[in-house]
Amino acid sequence: MDAHKNDLAGLSTRQLLSRRRALATRLGDVERVLAGSLAEQTRRCGKPGCRCAAGEGHGPYAYFTPRAAGRGRARYVPAALVEAVRGYLRAGSGAEAVLAEISAINAELLARRELS
Ligand SMILES: [Zn+2]
Repeated sequence: MDAHKNDLAGLSTRQLLSRRRALATRLGDVERVLAGSLAEQTRRCGKPGCRCAAGEGHGPYAYFTPRAAGRGRARYVPAALVEAVRGYLRAGSGAEAVLAEISAINAELLARRELS
Protein backbone atom coordinates (compact mmCIF):
# COMPACT_ATOMS: atom_id res chain seq x y z
CA MET A 1 0.00 0.00 0.00
CA ASP A 2 2.80 2.40 0.83
CA ALA A 3 4.49 1.66 -2.48
CA HIS A 4 1.23 2.48 -4.25
CA LYS A 5 0.90 5.70 -2.29
CA ASN A 6 4.41 6.69 -3.28
CA ASP A 7 3.56 6.03 -6.92
CA LEU A 8 0.72 8.49 -6.66
CA ALA A 9 2.91 11.06 -4.94
CA GLY A 10 5.12 11.06 -8.02
CA LEU A 11 2.26 12.06 -10.30
CA SER A 12 1.09 15.58 -11.02
CA THR A 13 -2.36 16.58 -9.82
CA ARG A 14 -3.48 16.68 -13.43
CA GLN A 15 -2.26 13.11 -13.92
CA LEU A 16 -4.07 12.03 -10.75
CA LEU A 17 -7.34 13.55 -11.97
CA SER A 18 -6.90 11.90 -15.34
CA ARG A 19 -6.23 8.52 -13.74
CA ARG A 20 -9.21 8.96 -11.45
CA ARG A 21 -11.47 9.68 -14.41
CA ALA A 22 -10.20 6.59 -16.26
CA LEU A 23 -10.78 4.44 -13.18
CA ALA A 24 -14.30 5.76 -12.71
CA THR A 25 -15.05 4.86 -16.33
CA ARG A 26 -13.89 1.31 -15.67
CA LEU A 27 -16.39 0.91 -12.84
CA GLY A 28 -19.14 0.27 -15.35
CA ASP A 29 -22.23 -1.58 -14.20
CA VAL A 30 -22.06 -1.65 -10.41
CA GLU A 31 -25.52 -3.15 -9.98
CA ARG A 32 -24.39 -6.67 -10.76
CA VAL A 33 -21.91 -7.16 -7.93
CA LEU A 34 -21.56 -9.53 -5.01
CA ALA A 35 -19.11 -9.57 -2.10
CA GLY A 36 -18.50 -13.00 -0.69
CA SER A 37 -17.41 -16.41 -1.81
CA LEU A 38 -18.74 -19.37 -3.72
CA ALA A 39 -17.85 -22.86 -2.55
CA GLU A 40 -18.81 -26.32 -3.72
CA GLN A 41 -19.69 -29.02 -1.25
CA THR A 42 -21.05 -32.53 -1.38
CA ARG A 43 -23.90 -33.54 0.92
CA ARG A 44 -25.12 -36.74 2.54
CA CYS A 45 -28.89 -37.19 2.32
CA GLY A 46 -29.20 -39.48 5.36
CA LYS A 47 -31.31 -42.13 3.62
CA PRO A 48 -30.27 -45.58 4.74
CA GLY A 49 -28.67 -47.59 1.98
CA CYS A 50 -27.99 -44.57 -0.22
CA ARG A 51 -24.63 -44.69 -1.96
CA CYS A 52 -23.71 -41.42 -0.25
CA ALA A 53 -23.69 -43.03 3.20
CA ALA A 54 -20.49 -44.90 2.45
CA GLY A 55 -19.03 -43.21 -0.58
CA GLU A 56 -19.11 -39.76 -2.04
CA GLY A 57 -21.88 -37.42 -1.08
CA HIS A 58 -24.38 -35.96 -3.53
CA GLY A 59 -23.38 -32.99 -5.58
CA PRO A 60 -21.18 -31.08 -5.50
CA TYR A 61 -23.61 -28.24 -4.83
CA ALA A 62 -22.67 -24.59 -4.83
CA TYR A 63 -23.07 -22.35 -1.79
CA PHE A 64 -22.66 -18.62 -1.59
CA THR A 65 -21.42 -17.01 1.61
CA PRO A 66 -21.85 -13.23 1.82
CA ARG A 67 -18.87 -11.38 3.22
CA ALA A 68 -20.83 -8.99 5.40
CA ALA A 69 -20.47 -9.95 9.06
CA GLY A 70 -23.65 -11.18 10.69
CA ARG A 71 -25.09 -12.42 7.43
CA GLY A 72 -22.43 -15.00 6.85
CA ARG A 73 -24.68 -18.01 6.41
CA ALA A 74 -23.90 -20.07 3.33
CA ARG A 75 -26.84 -20.30 0.95
CA TYR A 76 -27.45 -22.88 -1.70
CA VAL A 77 -27.02 -21.63 -5.26
CA PRO A 78 -28.96 -23.50 -7.95
CA ALA A 79 -26.68 -24.83 -10.69
CA ALA A 80 -28.41 -22.58 -13.25
CA LEU A 81 -27.26 -19.51 -11.31
CA VAL A 82 -23.68 -20.52 -10.53
CA GLU A 83 -22.16 -18.83 -13.58
CA ALA A 84 -24.13 -15.65 -12.91
CA VAL A 85 -22.92 -15.62 -9.30
CA ARG A 86 -19.33 -16.09 -10.48
CA GLY A 87 -19.77 -13.10 -12.77
CA TYR A 88 -21.25 -10.98 -9.96
CA LEU A 89 -18.35 -11.93 -7.70
CA ARG A 90 -15.77 -11.04 -10.37
CA ALA A 91 -17.52 -7.72 -10.96
CA GLY A 92 -17.65 -7.06 -7.22
CA SER A 93 -13.93 -7.72 -6.75
CA GLY A 94 -13.10 -5.57 -9.75
CA ALA A 95 -15.26 -2.68 -8.56
CA GLU A 96 -13.74 -2.86 -5.08
CA ALA A 97 -10.22 -2.73 -6.52
CA VAL A 98 -11.13 0.28 -8.65
CA LEU A 99 -12.78 2.05 -5.71
CA ALA A 100 -9.69 1.42 -3.57
CA GLU A 101 -7.52 3.04 -6.26
CA ILE A 102 -9.84 6.01 -6.57
CA SER A 103 -9.83 6.39 -2.80
CA ALA A 104 -6.03 6.33 -2.74
CA ILE A 105 -5.94 9.05 -5.40
CA ASN A 106 -8.40 11.13 -3.41
CA ALA A 107 -6.30 10.68 -0.27
CA GLU A 108 -3.31 11.98 -2.20
CA LEU A 109 -5.36 14.93 -3.48
CA LEU A 110 -6.47 15.64 0.08
CA ALA A 111 -2.85 15.60 1.26
CA ARG A 112 -2.14 18.25 -1.39
CA ARG A 113 -5.24 20.21 -0.35
CA GLU A 114 -6.47 19.77 -3.90
CA LEU A 115 -9.52 17.68 -3.15
CA SER A 116 -12.55 19.53 -4.42
ZN1 LIG B 1 -27.71 -40.00 -0.45
